[in-house]
Amino acid sequence: MPSFHELGLSEDIVRAVSEQGYTSPTPIQQQAIPAVIQGGDLLAGAQTGTGKTAGFTLPVLQRLLSQPNGPSDKTSRRPIRVLVLTPTRELAAQVQESVALYSKYLPLNSGVIFGGVGINPQIKLLKQGVDVLVATPGRLLDHHQQGTIDLRHIEILILDEADRMLDMGFIHDIKKVLAILPPKRQNLLFSATFSDDIKALADRLLNSPAMIEVARRNSTVEVIAQKIHPVDRDKKHPLLAHLIKSQQWSQVLVFTRTKHGANRLVEQLGKESITAMAIHGNKSQSARTKALSEFKDGSLSVLVATDIAARGIDIDQLPHVVNYDLPNVPEDYVHRIGRTGRAGASGEAVSLVCVDEFKLLADIEKFIKRQIPQEIIDGFIPDPNAKAQPIQLRSFEGRNHPGNGQRKARPAGSNKAQAAKAPTRHETAGRPQQPKPRNSNLLGGKSAGPRRSGSRGNG
Ligand code: AMP
Repeated sequence: MPSFHELGLSEDIVRAVSEQGYTSPTPIQQQAIPAVIQGGDLLAGAQTGTGKTAGFTLPVLQRLLSQPNGPSDKTSRRPIRVLVLTPTRELAAQVQESVALYSKYLPLNSGVIFGGVGINPQIKLLKQGVDVLVATPGRLLDHHQQGTIDLRHIEILILDEADRMLDMGFIHDIKKVLAILPPKRQNLLFSATFSDDIKALADRLLNSPAMIEVARRNSTVEVIAQKIHPVDRDKKHPLLAHLIKSQQWSQVLVFTRTKHGANRLVEQLGKESITAMAIHGNKSQSARTKALSEFKDGSLSVLVATDIAARGIDIDQLPHVVNYDLPNVPEDYVHRIGRTGRAGASGEAVSLVCVDEFKLLADIEKFIKRQIPQEIIDGFIPDPNAKAQPIQLRSFEGRNHPGNGQRKARPAGSNKAQAAKAPTRHETAGRPQQPKPRNSNLLGGKSAGPRRSGSRGNG
């Protein structure tokens, strides 16, 4: 395996990387670093957790270094040379943190702009100028409209988590940004999935790109211990409280399907003397940042999040992830459990599954090509006669969250193979018997749900 140095990175970059404790490049880094240093466009298939951020940041810094075009110190005024677009504020902040870490020993600086916070400090930052700017699309356009940003010197554009940006309705914003940028530039597109929309975007954006793809997360889920606890719908919160207490979990990320569900769970846990905080789209940016930093530094042990809010949360070796509700889209299950067991560390992902969710469970198991072991916890034996109720989708976060019909058509009846599988040891209590067909729009065609266009929801 080549070292970071052998991939073409200079001493000062390698030093910063070594200080992070990285001993060798991950597969995406092995491929992306030399490709980007060469200067061509890149189409990369990689999910969070693969080391993709360093995969584009390190070679981009290397390029800036080899073609100096600005002051040779960190503080003087400078043109923006690299623009990284991300779908969410959290991801933007994390990417910029990484850029700052990796450029620690370089005469380069970076900054981040996103919506939901005051614009004035950003205007000041932009006046000063940064070499690398990380931004969410909406706020970037706000600055452009106000004339507070100069994008004429962009040499490299990176779209990070491009699939999520499209899912979140940012395509129009992205097109507007592309129209503003200088036409001669290097373009890097990172996406976990390749829908037709992503391919169309790639066609439009990239010139003869190098293409790389690393193993999808669903083939690397092996490192994560997964478990299902079948439980009655109304026993989920006592069960979660029981697990947290009896197993002394000190850092657990809990996923709920809705914002309302996240808030309610925080309250319910509070009644059991467990302090939790929620992060989701209705929370102010400062509340989200506070919850996240307390969770990261260990002073908050339970963080409850919706899929979109949790997107990009980067916590090394998060020991426990709980699916309080199963996600609607199997890919989200993989994204969620990928929060644990990152970069080779082992972790545990536990799902509390009630009768309403058997169909979702079957879809997930089909997607990850394995059955997840089930364990019934004493005192929480589910009622074998319980009837499934349709899952409430009204208050899903994000008007066009993938669960609302934007992503991944799945053929009807795709669970037949699953239904035919041998029963597991808790068959009676836990396994799907007759999954009720749900509104086909939920998982399929593009007709469901209003599409957000030109939205500034997260930017
Ligand atoms: P990402 O896919 O960019 O979200 O990165 C996932 C995690 O892997 C982050 O916590 C990084 O700090 C970590 N990471 C990135 N590159 C390496 C590496 N070469 N060795 C070990 N950990 C890494």
